[in-house]
Amino acid sequence: MELAKAVVQTTHDHLSYSQIYCYLGCPLQYRFKYVDDIPPAFTTAALVFGSAIHEAAAAFHQGRLEAEPLRVDQLLDVYRDEWRRAERVKFLNGDNENTLMEKARNMLSVFHDSVDSGSQVIGVEEFFEIPLGGLPPFQGYIDLIEESHDGCVTLVDLKTASKKLSQSNVDTNLQLTAYALATESMGFNPDDLTFRLDVLLKTKEAGMVRYETRRTADDRHRFMRLLYSVWNGIQQEVFFPRQDWGCIQCAWAKNCRDW
Ligand code: SF4
Repeated sequence: MELAKAVVQTTHDHLSYSQIYCYLGCPLQYRFKYVDDIPPAFTTAALVFGSAIHEAAAAFHQGRLEAEPLRVDQLLDVYRDEWRRAERVKFLNGDNENTLMEKARNMLSVFHDSVDSGSQVIGVEEFFEIPLGGLPPFQGYIDLIEESHDGCVTLVDLKTASKKLSQSNVDTNLQLTAYALATESMGFNPDDLTFRLDVLLKTKEAGMVRYETRRTADDRHRFMRLLYSVWNGIQQEVFFPRQDWGCIQCAWAKNCRDW
C-alpha cells in the first residue's frame, strides 16, 4: 500500500476539475487514465467537437478582450485547426467530419450573434491555483470573466450540450463551484459574484442558452469536502468499475475487460 501511495503521489502534481469529474464518473477509468497513464484507444468525435467549439469560443472572447472581434469564418478556422490536431477519432451516431463541420458552422454562427455587446470581457482562460493543505493544489482555468456596465462581475463556463439544462443542474454544477472557490485566491469576494453557464445547443436547430446562478459559502465548503474525499479514495486505491451507458464511449474498455 505504501508503494501504491508513492505512485499516486508522484503522478499527481495537481488536481483538476477533469480529474474529479472522471473519478466521480468511474474510479477505474480514473486509474487507467491518471494513475497508470494508459493512452486512450481512441478519442470520441463528440469530445473533439466539444473542445474545438470551446477553442473557437475562447478565441472569440480573446478577440473581444483585445478589441479585435473575430468573424464567424475566423471562428471556423480555429475549429478546423483543433480537428487537424485530433488523433484516432471515433465517430458515433452516424456522424462524420462533414456533418459535424456543418453543425459547428450553425452553432458558431448562433454563438457569434448571441454575445452581449453591453458587457466587457476582463479575463479569458484565466489560470487559478488553490493551495490545499495535505493535497496537491487544485488548478484550472476560468473560461470567461465579464463585467457589466453596472459593475457586476460574472464568471462563465461554456459548454456544448444536446439538450437544455434544468436550473437545478446549474445550481449544483461543480465546475461553477470550483470557479467560486478559485475567486477567493484571485482577490474577488465570491458572495458578490454571479456565475453563468453558457450552453451552446447541438440540437437540429442550434441555440444558445445562458443560465445564471450563485454560490454560497456552504457550497464552497461542500466542494472542499468532496476534493478531500476523492483524494482519499485515490490514495487508498479505491478504483472500481462503474458500469453504465457511458461505457460504450470508454476509451479504456479493453483495459476494463482485462481488469
Ligand atoms: S468500460 Fe465503463 S466501467 Fe470500465 S473503465 Fe470504462 S467507464 Fe469504467
